Amino acid sequence: MKEEKNSSRFFENRDCQYFPCHAGMEGEPLNCLFCYCPLYALGRACGGDYAYNERGIKDCSACTFPHRPENYDRLLARYGDIMKVVRRADEEGV
Ligand code: SF4
Repeated sequence: MKEEKNSSRFFENRDCQYFPCHAGMEGEPLNCLFCYCPLYALGRACGGDYAYNERGIKDCSACTFPHRPENYDRLLARYGDIMKVVRRADEEGV
């Protein structure tokens, strides 16, 4: 197991009742910094491993993208796209 130290880029809360919250990451460093994924607002363009359930709700339970420490910079690079979604929502009064 690769050791990661808590920092501004990485935070692992092993005391969380849900840890490790995603299958397939057992024994690997799991970044809890993006516990609620900021890319969720990008819908189908988030780039993660999502599925939509029968009620049309996006289900991210199979996705480990935001939790993998090596993806920190890739995730931050999408903030411009998130801001476009926010601007559009503001313009539409959502
Ligand atoms: S599928 Fe993955 S990347 Fe996309 S919003 Fe869900 S957790 Fe984030």
